[in-house]
Amino acid sequence: MNIILMGPPGAGKGTQAKRLIEDYNLTQLSTGDLLRNAISRGEELGLKAREYMNKGRLVPDEVILGLVKEEFKRGNLSNGFILDGFPRTRSQAESLDKVLTETGMVLNFVIVLEVKDESVVERLCGRRICKDCGASYHICFHPSRENDKCDICGGVLFQRDDDKEHTIRNRLIVYHQQTEEVTEFYNPTGKVVFIEGEGSIDDIYHQIKLHLNK
Ligand code: AMP
Repeated sequence: MNIILMGPPGAGKGTQAKRLIEDYNLTQLSTGDLLRNAISRGEELGLKAREYMNKGRLVPDEVILGLVKEEFKRGNLSNGFILDGFPRTRSQAESLDKVLTETGMVLNFVIVLEVKDESVVERLCGRRICKDCGASYHICFHPSRENDKCDICGGVLFQRDDDKEHTIRNRLIVYHQQTEEVTEFYNPTGKVVFIEGEGSIDDIYHQIKLHLNK
């Protein structure tokens, strides 16, 4: 099964993706993670991308498409994939179509998690990530037992640069302007599924599974 998982930043895409991966044996491709890995390795591409990311702007298509095509070329996604954070523009969606045609793969679902802007700001401003294992916490909704320390590995918790309120609001503007055109692109295919993304993690996952198993 091949899925695109969409929604505003902080909609819980990563959390739901993790479950889908386990249940359906999918490989996740997160362009945000690929970029953050390139930054932490000090790669030129990552350093260029960071300037856009810290302002909450989209990284240019050619950079993103280069990364995505590389992943498809490696064949990592051939047993089923879940795309998280890609495509984010109509032209990325068109390029993905071409890649899928070239590789003989078919897209099955475009899942869109719907979350209100103010909930996104609240969720992301309080988000803290473990530097070592990547576990995610929230200062109010899911605090770590010890201040600024990961419950799982003891690593230091930090706030992502792009989780500052000003940047979050920019990311939301970008989401509404550009990413919604991606759902419009896929609407005629009948593959788009809108899911209310504000309930409990379990309820949201249950809704997603209901659609996938139909
Ligand atoms: P994410 O972790 O998916 O929220 O992505 C973090 C940031 O990485 C975004 O705010 C963008 O600056 C950049 N980014 C990730 N994926 C893409 C994409 N498909 N197109 C353009 N920029 C992206």
